[in-house]
Amino acid sequence: MHVEVTGLNKRFGEFQAVADVSFSIAKGQLIGLLGPSGGGKTSILRMLAGLESPDSGDIVFHGQRVNDLPPQERGIGFVFQNYALFKHMTVEGNIAFGLEVKKWNKAKIKERVAELVELTGLSGFEKRYPHQLSGGQRQRVAFARALAPEPQLLLLDEPFAAIDAKIRHELRSWLREMIDRLGITSIFVTHDQDEAIEVADEIMIINKGNLEQKGSPWEIYKDPKTPFVAGFIGESTTVEDISALKGFKEAANWPGTKGLIRPEYIEIGKENEFTLLSATETGKVSHIHFRGSEWLVEVQIGDIKLVTYRSLEKNVLQVGDEVHVLIHRAYLFNNKDNWVMENSLKVDPLPVHI
Ligand code: ATP
Repeated sequence: MHVEVTGLNKRFGEFQAVADVSFSIAKGQLIGLLGPSGGGKTSILRMLAGLESPDSGDIVFHGQRVNDLPPQERGIGFVFQNYALFKHMTVEGNIAFGLEVKKWNKAKIKERVAELVELTGLSGFEKRYPHQLSGGQRQRVAFARALAPEPQLLLLDEPFAAIDAKIRHELRSWLREMIDRLGITSIFVTHDQDEAIEVADEIMIINKGNLEQKGSPWEIYKDPKTPFVAGFIGESTTVEDISALKGFKEAANWPGTKGLIRPEYIEIGKENEFTLLSATETGKVSHIHFRGSEWLVEVQIGDIKLVTYRSLEKNVLQVGDEVHVLIHRAYLFNNKDNWVMENSLKVDPLPVHI
């Protein structure tokens, strides 16, 4: 189902929970709504579901405005964070429930339940009750139950939040695979950026009721449109006076400009590791943390602390080591604009033309 939302607003008393949000979602896409707690993600999802009505704005599913349709007529399936399974019903009973309410005939219900049990890998668990299942299995039942009436749009509200890290990881890949297989348009809410990056075709970053940016995980990572997005996705350090750093003096032309520096655009090392010392700052290693595949290194340049990675093949640095720091690029922001600045002192070590 194609989803088109225009100018969505929702207030709770004086509080603007959702502020003029517009977006469209192509059929079959998996969209992650990502943002800090209280940003408005669940409110958007609940309005799509018909569990909350917007103060203004249009919600259009497949060309039809659905604002005035009750939830059960919108063709949606809903998966909640806390499973919300019926405790006194078996796996089969839970999956069949919505179909019984819709008065499907018995044979068709049986067939559909069997199909979903198979699809969600729950064969052998049909007669169990929710308390006899693991968290991951329960969530798969919730998923099967939401899919049972053949919805056109699947809404998932933090579906894996209550599940421990390892299983959550498995469930994410499982969900991605399921959705690809079914081709069902899906929207899931999460505040876990790794989850959104790993699973979603596109991410919508929601903050203080606003849609800050919508795009593929890679677009959002490499080209953040607002300071909030740049700071929220990936690890980074915000530097108040970026013009004080070598290679970024020109930032002083725009008073009030801050810089955001990401670890992957910083190189650190001993003097002999650099050919272009005029473009490097000197700093002191203040903290080192082993991360399995690399070192995470914190380095102090005056009162600026930056974070970067160092590959395991290089010589190990120690806390207190004097190091050179080459900052390749920074994202600059003021209250009007944002842009990327390359280190102006970094020139090609060899002349290109003779
Ligand atoms: P979380 O990640 O914590 O679930 P969220 O981004 O999903 O957060 P929402 O649940 O949409 O955020 O809430 C947005 C804001 O609206 C919050 O400040 C919340 O307290 C407020 N809010 C949500 N529902 C209601 C309600 N029924 N009555 C009053 N305020 C509400």
